[in-house]
Amino acid sequence: QHAKKNRLDQQIYTQQIDGNTLERLQLINELKSAIDNGELVLFYQPKLDLKLKKVTHVEALVRWQHPDRGMIPPDLFIPIAEQMGQMNALTHWVINESLEQYLKWKPQGIELCIAINISAENLKDEGFCQYVLDLVNHKGVPIDVLTLEITEDAVVSDPENAIKQLTVLKKSGLKLSIDDYGTGYSSLAQLKQLPVDELKIDKSFVQNLMVNQDDRIIVNSTLQLAHNLGLSVVAEGIEDEGALNWLAERGCELGQGFYLSRPLDADKITDWLARSPY
Ligand code: C2E
Ligand code: MG
Ligand code: MG
Ligand code: MG
Repeated sequence: QHAKKNRLDQQIYTQQIDGNTLERLQLINELKSAIDNGELVLFYQPKLDLKLKKVTHVEALVRWQHPDRGMIPPDLFIPIAEQMGQMNALTHWVINESLEQYLKWKPQGIELCIAINISAENLKDEGFCQYVLDLVNHKGVPIDVLTLEITEDAVVSDPENAIKQLTVLKKSGLKLSIDDYGTGYSSLAQLKQLPVDELKIDKSFVQNLMVNQDDRIIVNSTLQLAHNLGLSVVAEGIEDEGALNWLAERGCELGQGFYLSRPLDADKITDWLARSPY
């Protein structure tokens, strides 16, 4: 009886794996056409200037509006896009779409800097910086509107090349930010070499700020470290008013999180901007 049950469990398990693999293969295939079919959507999450109490930036976050599966979050398809060599096409689309949104907002009196996430694959492409600079130039958008958010891991895999590309971008006036700071494995020596303007403290240190003393110690030290190195700081994952005030009191420049707003599509964020006290 027992052995039979075990076999059955195994069968179900195997079926699940096969199912997942099949689903993965399907997604891989479909992702190739998703961009061309207009199935990607950008959501925007506001970043608040904690001193001015004014929204000055948004982060663009991609979603896949799949015709059958509904909204697929980026964590599920970005890794596939990376493995399948689709990241350049995806990032080009994201930057293009963000610049278009900037140009739509401008005549409405909404002038926001836009942060975009880029991946290791983008930095491996020799032509990436030139593509970005040409596109911004072509659209007539001021270069300092764009911030590029890079995770530590994106740099660690090939630091020399990453530093080369990032230096070109930085010299052209783009803002560079280290995303998910504190979760990667890069050494301070490596980080020091990066021509970045900003550290973005990972949400895992911010979400429980008011109840976790270790998190407060880590965030406080990070703020001091960043400020002493001449970098500004963004805290992501602000989920309550206490954390917002605590960060503002300690000179954290920008804050982002569900307490202010979840990421919203362009129409909804435009509404939110009109209604919010910020
Ligand atoms: P990220 O760049 O660190 O973006 C922040 C993530 O944290 C977003 O998840 C956002 O919705 C979430 N978040 C913001 N505030 C809070 C909060 O208060 N509480 C909690 N629990 N979460 C919060 P999202 O949109 O699912 O994106 C996940 C990740 O996918 C991003 O992390 C980024 O690494 C990647 N990603 C998203 N869009 C793009 C893109 O266009 N290109 C690339 N390369 N990666 C992207
Ligand atoms: Mg980001
Ligand atoms: Mg992050
Ligand atoms: Mg992240």
